[in-house]
Amino acid sequence: MTDCVIIGGGVIGLSIARELAGRGLRVEVLARDRGRDTASWAAAGIFPPVPDDATASPGDRLTAWSDALHRRWAEELRDETGIDNELRRCGGLHVGASDAGLDRLAAAAASWRRRGGRCDWLTATEIRFHEPALAPAIETGGIRAGFFLPDEMSLRPPRHLEALEKSCRQRGVTITPVAVRGIERGHGAISGVVTDAGIVRARTYCFAAGAWSGAVAASLGLAIETQPIRGQIVLLRLPRQVLGRVVNFGIDYLVPRDDGRLLVGSTIEDAGFAATTTPEAVARLLDVARRLLGSVTDATVEQAWAGLRPGSLDGLPTIGRIPDLDNAFIAAGHFRAGLHQSPGTAVLMADLMTGARPSFDPAAFAPGRRCEPGGIPPPDSVAAYLARAATQDP
Ligand SMILES: Cc1cc2nc3c(=O)[nH]c(=O)nc-3n(C[C@H](O)[C@H](O)[C@H](O)COP(=O)(O)OP(=O)(O)OC[C@H]3O[C@@H](n4cnc5c(N)ncnc54)[C@H](O)[C@@H]3O)c2cc1C
Repeated sequence: MTDCVIIGGGVIGLSIARELAGRGLRVEVLARDRGRDTASWAAAGIFPPVPDDATASPGDRLTAWSDALHRRWAEELRDETGIDNELRRCGGLHVGASDAGLDRLAAAAASWRRRGGRCDWLTATEIRFHEPALAPAIETGGIRAGFFLPDEMSLRPPRHLEALEKSCRQRGVTITPVAVRGIERGHGAISGVVTDAGIVRARTYCFAAGAWSGAVAASLGLAIETQPIRGQIVLLRLPRQVLGRVVNFGIDYLVPRDDGRLLVGSTIEDAGFAATTTPEAVARLLDVARRLLGSVTDATVEQAWAGLRPGSLDGLPTIGRIPDLDNAFIAAGHFRAGLHQSPGTAVLMADLMTGARPSFDPAAFAPGRRCEPGGIPPPDSVAAYLARAATQDP
C-alpha cells in the first residue's frame, strides 16, 4: 500500500512528496491541473530575506529557515536532475517616489538594520550607479531614493517545478493527473480519496491544494480560509538584459531572468477563482515597466498570465495534522510566500507525517487555530494586502 497520498501538485505538494520519498516512503501525488496552471508556476519567485532574530514572527522564522534550505535544495536538484532552478542571490532594490512611499521605505530600512539585516540606504544617484537602466525613472522623479538588500534572492518557478517533478519521479513518486472529488472517512481516519479514476487509498493523506484547500478542508469539517487572490504577470523579451537585481516598487516589481527576459508583476486582486488576465492589468503593468525603464520596455510582450495565491486570514500558512483525523494532514494558505516557504513546509510536514520530532515549532500553523476575521488585519494577511494594493503610492 502507498504510504502517503498528496493531494496537489504545486510547489507545496511536490516539495512534501520529494521530502517524504527522500525518507524512504512510497508516495503518490494526485494533481488536477498541469503544472503551468498552478499558482506555483505563475509566481515571480522573489525571496526577500528576513532577519531571524528574537522578534521574528513564526511566518518570518519559517521563511528564514526555508531561505537557507533553498540554497541546499537548489544544489541537490541540480545534481539529481541536471536542472538549474536559477536560484540567484541577485539582491533586491526597494525604491520609491512619493513622500509617503519614502517614509515607509525609511522605516523598513531602519527596522532591518535594528534587526541586524544587511541593508544599504541609497540616494537616486546611487541607485542609478547600481542599475543604470533605471535612469529614465530617476530623471523624471519616478524614483527618488530607496534601499538595497544584498541577500534578496530570486528563483525561476517553472524551472523549480520541473526540477522538483523530475526529482520526485527519480525518488519513486507516482504523479497522477486526476481530480479529487470526495473523501471517504470513518473511525477517526480517512480511508480513501475519491477521484475521477476511482478510489485511492494510503496510510496517510496530505492536502496541499493551494487556493482550493478551503473547499477540501470544509468537506472534512475544518474551517480553513484559503481565499484565492489573483496575481497577473507580464513577461517581456528584451534584446539584452538591462537589470541585474530585482526592483521592488510599491506592490509592483521587475525580475530579470538569466536569458534576457524581464518579468513585470503583479496585481493583488480578489477575483474569485478566475485565473485569467485582464487588458487593464496588463496595460498597467506595462506602464509600470515604462515608467521605470523607459522605452527599453517597448520590447516584445512574450506572455501574460495569472495565478491564484492561496490567501489566509492571519497571514500564516496552515501546516499540521487535521484535528480528529489520525492520518490526515494539511499544508496550505501560503499566500505570497509559498515558493519561498516551500522547503521548510516540506521538512516540517514530513516530520509530522512520519512522527519524527519536528525540526521547527509547528504550533503557530496548527489547523483549527482561531483566525479571527475583522479587527486590524495582520500585516501579511489578505485583507492588509488588498488594502495596500488599493491605496499605496510607491
Ligand atoms: C502572480 C504571483 C506571484 C507570486 N510571487 C511569489 C513570489 O515571488 N515568492 C513566493 O514565495 N511566492 C509567490 N507567489 C505565491 C506562491 O505562488 C503560492 O504561495 C504557492 O505557489 C502556493 O503553492 P501551492 O502548492 O499551495 O498551490 P498551487 O501551486 O496552486 O497548487 C495547488 C495544487 O492543487 C491541485 N488541486 C486543487 N484542487 C484539487 C483537487 N480537487 N484534486 C486534485 N488536485 C487539486 C492543483 O491542481 C495544483 O496542482 C506568487 C503567486 C502569484 C499568483
